Amino acid sequence: RPTKRIVCLGEILIDFVPEENGRPLSQVPAFQRAAGGAPANVAAAVARLGGSSRFIGKIGRDPFGRYLHGTLEDAGVEAALVETDAARTGLAFVSLRENGERDFLFYRGPAADMLLEPAELHAAWLDDAAVYHFGSVSLIADPCRAATLEAARRVKAAGGLISYDPNLRPALWPDEETMRRVVLEHIGLADVVKVSEEEAAFLAGKEPPEAVQYLLGLGAKALVVTLGENGCCVLTRTAMTSIPGVRVKAVDTTGAGDSFVGAMLLKLVEHGITAESIESALTDEDTVRDIFSFANKAGAFTTTRRGAIPALPTLAEIEMLSVR
Ligand code: ADP
Repeated sequence: RPTKRIVCLGEILIDFVPEENGRPLSQVPAFQRAAGGAPANVAAAVARLGGSSRFIGKIGRDPFGRYLHGTLEDAGVEAALVETDAARTGLAFVSLRENGERDFLFYRGPAADMLLEPAELHAAWLDDAAVYHFGSVSLIADPCRAATLEAARRVKAAGGLISYDPNLRPALWPDEETMRRVVLEHIGLADVVKVSEEEAAFLAGKEPPEAVQYLLGLGAKALVVTLGENGCCVLTRTAMTSIPGVRVKAVDTTGAGDSFVGAMLLKLVEHGITAESIESALTDEDTVRDIFSFANKAGAFTTTRRGAIPALPTLAEIEMLSVR
């Protein structure tokens, strides 16, 4: 596959982010509007760093949908958006703790992004995908769940690399057991899976490092465990490499994981890594360091500004960050 296109599909919404940290949601005096949604953030992260990305998703035919469309295009993402009258564009209200951790309140009616249908996937949106990235809430219910998996199957059959970030948000699922079962099913579909330490432990029902071995046994070829300010750990069945984090003053961690994933996927493509070669490529320590110190910097930078897409770095901004 000569293409370098990174295709993301699923959640897209507007986060309303507080202008100051440390207040509960009901006491936030003013919000700023920030485009988000995990896979939309990843597509924007790739484009902001100079890569080629497309986002596939559904928006309401309303001002918020138009704002999201414009935001993707301004970021340099090819926006493959379906507009609907059947639902409104997704919204989330966010409150931030002093350390930048966030709490959410979602408008979910369901929102338009959850109504993407398999029949709405144009072949041309998937044909040139070197990488397909999916995850988060688009797997909660049909029709978006069916569309998410259909796209994964098509890109996989054509030899593309499949990337998955479960991005667990238990509050949005019917119950934790359903969430765990569904997410475990999808880990086997992917070549590379990114999880946080807490997600790994929850999904496996075991403590690290047993959790990691269990998850790799499900079929993914590489597992990337993000560790917040401590960076990340990259695992295959035969290798494990820890890459230390970058010290920054975090104000809002929204989008850090997505920024990290976008940077990681861009580097994987630049290294020419495919579904077939990823396992052996990630046993080489120099390759892992090159890819994941870059991803750590992208994640760290994103915590220094509010919101997700507005906080994504350019290449020049990443180069200005120094490693601990
Ligand atoms: P998620 O946003 O998916 O919960 P993390 O919080 O672990 O994931 O963040 C993803 C990546 O972003 C981390 O692996 C790290 O590289 C970077 N990062 C996150 N928080 C910080 C922080 N406080 N300081 C420096 N880097 C951070």
